[in-house]
Amino acid sequence: MSPKCDYCGQRNSSFVVTANHLTFCLEQVIGNPPTKDCHKAYLDSLKKTKALKTAKDLPELSQQERSKNISKLEAYQKELKQKRFALRLQSYR
Ligand SMILES: [Zn+2]
Repeated sequence: MSPKCDYCGQRNSSFVVTANHLTFCLEQVIGNPPTKDCHKAYLDSLKKTKALKTAKDLPELSQQERSKNISKLEAYQKELKQKRFALRLQSYR
């Protein structure tokens, strides 16, 4: 019985077994590009998942950065208000 592919779940008589004991279909005529290469597809999907995860993490960081900037801005506006108030007091003297 052929092993089951860890990527597509099909049983295939042409397969590769990786160092991690994962089995993948590999249909290839020597000298030609593979017609089916589940190991490559699996690696690609891993990369995509990683890329997605990174893309997901980015907005969280920028949100944190944004709230930091907002609190900075609020502090600045408060300072500005106090300065204006102080100026107004001076002009009344
Ligand atoms: Zn497969």
